[in-house]
Amino acid sequence: MLLDPGHTPANPGAISSQGLPERGYNQNIAALLLKRLAADPDFDARLSNGPNETVENPDRAALANKLGVDMFLSIHHDSVQDAYLSTWTFNGAAQQYCDKFHGYSLHVADDRGQALDDPSLAFAERVAAKLEAAGFAPALYHAEPIAGENHKLLNRGLGVYERNNLAVFRTNKRPAILLECGVLVNREEEGRLQDPQVQGRIVEAVYQALREILALQPH
Ligand SMILES: [Zn+2]
Repeated sequence: MLLDPGHTPANPGAISSQGLPERGYNQNIAALLLKRLAADPDFDARLSNGPNETVENPDRAALANKLGVDMFLSIHHDSVQDAYLSTWTFNGAAQQYCDKFHGYSLHVADDRGQALDDPSLAFAERVAAKLEAAGFAPALYHAEPIAGENHKLLNRGLGVYERNNLAVFRTNKRPAILLECGVLVNREEEGRLQDPQVQGRIVEAVYQALREILALQPH
């Protein structure tokens, strides 16, 4: 199991409604999930990159291939298209936000030449189902027919999208999924995502899904 907290120190991803970089949120959830998995002897999990490490996306995919991992899980937090952003002041600084969208989503590639054998979609659906059962809502706005979105929903009820062009997927030959935990530019949702209890519920939902997925693997 390779946990892949998204982005690098120099390119930290989305900027939240409070002006915080996405990377810190990703690293936090990855560290919590790694801790949860490390307590379970059935898992052999590691991180693709640490808080101060720069590992580019193709190298993350290459690492998954080299290790032959049973699962590559990229961990991200979401934003929206620029046209939806408004400005507010947080802690004395102008920041951008959009309260219109919220929720988690899962993303998989289905053009990796092994579509029929690739369990990635089934894995993504398991993770999504556990998050949904834990009370989180799927984000459906990535399917909106506008520039930058217009992504195909593979499972509308669970918020699972086809994303064939993501760099972590393109050369990745292992089962691979990407989780957007929630929408950081949504002011209320960012507050929730900072709550250790909510983080714990996300981690537990993903862990329970990974346990189910593990049970499906040949031993
Ligand atoms: Zn990201």
